[in-house]
Amino acid sequence: MTDARVDGGRSGPAVPGTASPMVQLPSVVAAEHQAAVAAFREAYAAMPAGAPVRLAKRTSNLFRFREPAPRAGGRRGSQGPGTAAGLDASAFTSVLHVDPAARAAVVGGMTTYEDLADATLRHGLMPLVVPQLKTITLGGAVTGLGIESTSLRSGLPHESVTELEILTGDGRVVTAAAGNEHDALYRGFPNSYGTLGYALSLTIELEPVLPFVHLRHFRFGTPEACTEAVAQIAQDGSYRGHRADFVDGTAFSLDEIYLTVGAYSEVAPWLSDYTRERIYYHSIRGPKEDFLTIRDYLWRWDTDWFWCSRAFGVQNPVIRRAWPRRYRRSDTYRRLVAFDRRHGLSATLNARRRWPPREYVIQDVEVPVGRGAEFLRFFADRVGMSPVWLCPLRLRSERAWPLYPLRPGQVYVNFGFWGTVPLPPGAADGYYNRQVEDEVTRLGGSKGLYSTSFYSEDEFSERYNGPEYAKLKRDYDGQGRLAGLYEKCVRGK
Ligand SMILES: Cc1cc2nc3c(=O)[nH]c(=O)nc-3n(C[C@H](O)[C@H](O)[C@H](O)COP(=O)(O)OP(=O)(O)OC[C@H]3O[C@@H](n4cnc5c(N)ncnc54)[C@H](O)[C@@H]3O)c2cc1C
Repeated sequence: MTDARVDGGRSGPAVPGTASPMVQLPSVVAAEHQAAVAAFREAYAAMPAGAPVRLAKRTSNLFRFREPAPRAGGRRGSQGPGTAAGLDASAFTSVLHVDPAARAAVVGGMTTYEDLADATLRHGLMPLVVPQLKTITLGGAVTGLGIESTSLRSGLPHESVTELEILTGDGRVVTAAAGNEHDALYRGFPNSYGTLGYALSLTIELEPVLPFVHLRHFRFGTPEACTEAVAQIAQDGSYRGHRADFVDGTAFSLDEIYLTVGAYSEVAPWLSDYTRERIYYHSIRGPKEDFLTIRDYLWRWDTDWFWCSRAFGVQNPVIRRAWPRRYRRSDTYRRLVAFDRRHGLSATLNARRRWPPREYVIQDVEVPVGRGAEFLRFFADRVGMSPVWLCPLRLRSERAWPLYPLRPGQVYVNFGFWGTVPLPPGAADGYYNRQVEDEVTRLGGSKGLYSTSFYSEDEFSERYNGPEYAKLKRDYDGQGRLAGLYEKCVRGK
């Protein structure tokens, strides 16, 4: 079987933002959106000075837990000092317009990728990078950095954003794009985690898709062999004759690591379905070849939250059959974890059984491909959690993005690991996470900030370009209305 090639312009060389597709919103949509922006801005302005602010959203994929914020009375309202008031973001949760001719879309900032992908797939298009979890939103993936198996080819989600409409911390609504007067904000928004302002709409590039993805799972017996293959794919765009439109990997142990290389395909001799009895990550160890519809491919990890659903018993065939299919989704599992954290259920049970306390080690880190094997060996030795997700990436842009230290042209491997590990006697929370942070720094890599972090303030400033952040904060949130990046990501404010 031969795979049909997709349009060659798909991974186009455009520098993000410079080739901004002109997308005109239909006038009714534009008017409604403008009214929603005005209301949101007013609600923000009505909040008492000094009261902390946050978005009230239905879903989240952050792993820093806190009490849910009550909505600020309809679209506006206030909370007492010390309580983060929730700004109702529900007016920005849909796709405003898809322009198939321009291969672009204008999207509400809090639109989930599930809705976004459905809206664009209808036109045979998808965003250049679609993070694996259905309820990650476009704004969240841009301000908090997303990644997926197209990231070796197309970089990170923010690199195919051509325009951002932002309510800044100081209450203005600005349009930030490459080369315009808010270029610094456009470039500094990724990894700012909503501390400079909120993206209300984003214009993004899209790429054409084919109906199916033809997957091949390649097994490696050492981390070195696997990372050498990644470097080769980065250079050739294919592996053993299989085109690498999509690449990610799964390490079950140091001598059982798979790279899954996916190619768009016009045809599928059979189709697998991992939303029912079968489980995607189990399939990687099975037959070496597989076919999924493009939609099922995009959400292959969501049904079992990678492998994290096993904590709820959902991988036991009996429980799986009884667990309603519509609740086999990452957001359901995350809600269960949030409930558990809020009520301290598993911690209490653990203590009753006199088992050692456990530390959450939930992180995504990026390490240059040449040091990736060292990281896997360190992780197996010191943390010992498996599986580990691997996702190669390379910036699409020739310029670095100032708040997240990835070098243009360098191939990295993202390692994702999500679970808990028993603490040794006398060790406190942070024991494992701190070691991960140190090792990532030693290997010249960086760590995402969606979960817990333990950096000192100086170290954080050094790692995430504190001086540039301070300048942006002065220019766009001079009164410090929104929490600072360190306060939010490390102190959990
Ligand atoms: C187990 C697990 C696995 C993960 N795997 C992946 C993965 O494979 N790929 C991937 O890409 N990511 C992954 N993530 C990380 C996820 O992409 C980030 O946490 C992302 O920021 C979540 O986006 P969200 O839309 O759910 O936003 P939220 O969780 O709601 O918010 C995240 C942060 O962004 C801010 N924010 C949200 N929307 C906006 C906006 N419109 N404007 C400005 N600020 C905003 C919020 O204030 C908050 O600080 C994973 C996370 C977990 C916990």
